[in-house]
Amino acid sequence: SSSKLDRDKGVNVQVILRCRPLSDDEARLNTPAVITCNEHRREVSAAQNIANKQIDRTFTFDKVFGPTSKQKDLFGQSIAPIVNEVLEGYNCTIFAYGQTGTGKTYTMEGGGRKAKNGEFPSDAGVIPRAVRHIFDILESQCAEYSMKVTFLELYNEEITDLLAPDESKFSDDKSKKPIALMEDGKGGVFVRGLEEEVVYTAGEIYKILDKGSAKRRTAETLLNKQSSRSHSIFSITIHIKECTPEGEEMIKCGKLNLVDLAGSENISRSGARDGRAREAGEINKSLLTLGRVINTLVEHSGHIPYSKLTRLLRDSLGGKTKTCIIATISPSILCLEETLSTLDYAHRAK
Ligand code: ADP
Ligand code: MG
Repeated sequence: SSSKLDRDKGVNVQVILRCRPLSDDEARLNTPAVITCNEHRREVSAAQNIANKQIDRTFTFDKVFGPTSKQKDLFGQSIAPIVNEVLEGYNCTIFAYGQTGTGKTYTMEGGGRKAKNGEFPSDAGVIPRAVRHIFDILESQCAEYSMKVTFLELYNEEITDLLAPDESKFSDDKSKKPIALMEDGKGGVFVRGLEEEVVYTAGEIYKILDKGSAKRRTAETLLNKQSSRSHSIFSITIHIKECTPEGEEMIKCGKLNLVDLAGSENISRSGARDGRAREAGEINKSLLTLGRVINTLVEHSGHIPYSKLTRLLRDSLGGKTKTCIIATISPSILCLEETLSTLDYAHRAK
């Protein structure tokens, strides 16, 4: 009876696939594209003849977005319904998963262009669109609410706060509270010492994203391309005051996590041909653990393994939650091997 109950809790994992266009450089060099997207049939095919070996594989997903897909449509068709669940009090998580350079950050944050005279830029990604969608709905309902965001990076199992105020160059202040992952005693976790920004308007989110991304870029140059090896997690928590028909006041709380995962090429694959020593294990461990967590959710079975990444998301995985994985790939022949492993991984997550 308990397994029936688990099923009714509505564990829900969705996997969508997005293929970016060839870059200008790739196009100029006439790099062959080996990926075909059929959005209507929700299929992606990889076809190529390499050394007389014909590769021809087709994968099906919940939704497929081809190279000409628009940010607006990806959000409207696949993400807005999840954001609506957050407003109903669900905890939801959206992951971007894929090789470095395939569009994870583009999909989550969007291109660099700023809104012109209040207009929303067409290449704005999931995060600014989610924030605007939330404000639009809450304001149309005249709801009483509050909203706060956090933005952190996880590298080598260490947490960096991307919203922390800049430390003075000359300060060597050891009294600064270290960031630590704590149990809240109610089965959840929280990060001690993390900045929470209260957001009042959708416009403010750009400032917060800029601040966080700038910090991520600084760290990147210091730590040798850190961003391809770190996960970033942008979380939005919303409290909405509601009245029951009996006139009783009730607070509904929902949370949305937007996760830009480390480049999937950093996952060590078992049986790597050259037996090359594995890179220090933490990214691999957390990505592999995440894969197992998602598999576990899909299979509705009991035991969930946790690394720091999955512990951070513990209140948003399993139970009354929704999860969406956006797998990103490049169409280029040069990426084919990584593309096939992304397709395999994302397909298995389903
Ligand atoms: P990742 O975060 O996976 O390493 P990026 O998001 O930085 O990759 O994308 C790499 C480059 O490709 C960027 O210049 C980005 O603007 C561009 N790009 C990625 N996806 C798309 C897309 N769907 N449409 C247009 N340009 C894209
Ligand atoms: Mg990126």
